Amino acid sequence: MFDTHELGRRPGALQRLSRSVPAPVDLGVEGVIGVPEGAPVELELRLESVMEGVLVTGTARASAEGECVRCLEPVRLDVAAEFQEMFTYPDADDRDRSAEPGDDAEGEDVLFLKDGLFDLEPVLRDAVVLALPMQPVCREQCAGLCAECGIRLDDDPDHHHDAVDIRWAALQGLVETVKDGEKDNMSGAEAGVDEKQEK
Ligand SMILES: [Zn+2]
Ligand SMILES: [Zn+2]
Repeated sequence: MFDTHELGRRPGALQRLSRSVPAPVDLGVEGVIGVPEGAPVELELRLESVMEGVLVTGTARASAEGECVRCLEPVRLDVAAEFQEMFTYPDADDRDRSAEPGDDAEGEDVLFLKDGLFDLEPVLRDAVVLALPMQPVCREQCAGLCAECGIRLDDDPDHHHDAVDIRWAALQGLVETVKDGEKDNMSGAEAGVDEKQEK
């Protein structure tokens, strides 16, 4: 919660705030990446008093933690989220509603000042979620995990299996099977056809 009393209700009045707040729960993309609860969030806010309320513009900086989507290593990255939100005086909104009674859709997203206080948490959450990557990687070129044995390829750039030999052997095995199978299949198929025709 932030106080706007110091700002006063004078349109045009400005106030700048720098504050460090503990991260609220679920600040991020659940199960992907987020700012751990209680971790510091550095806020730079600019409060501007306008006719209907207080316009809040700001930046939030924090360190988010998650997991690389390719190699599953822990990922830590700094996030800077920008936001701007209007907090309306409850009485100012009443005036608007009586002026435009049919305009329900706009009313739903209105955030209100309560006794001169505003709650930045939902705004902060939306901004941080938008600023975070949906597919975090430990580094842009992360090679991920070996498809055959699951080791992290970045840890061992020369990692390889004797894939040629394995594949060759597998291929040879396959050729043998196909040769055998062809004979079987042909006789089997003929037998099958005969059976069907008999029925
Ligand atoms: Zn990675
Ligand atoms: Zn491997």
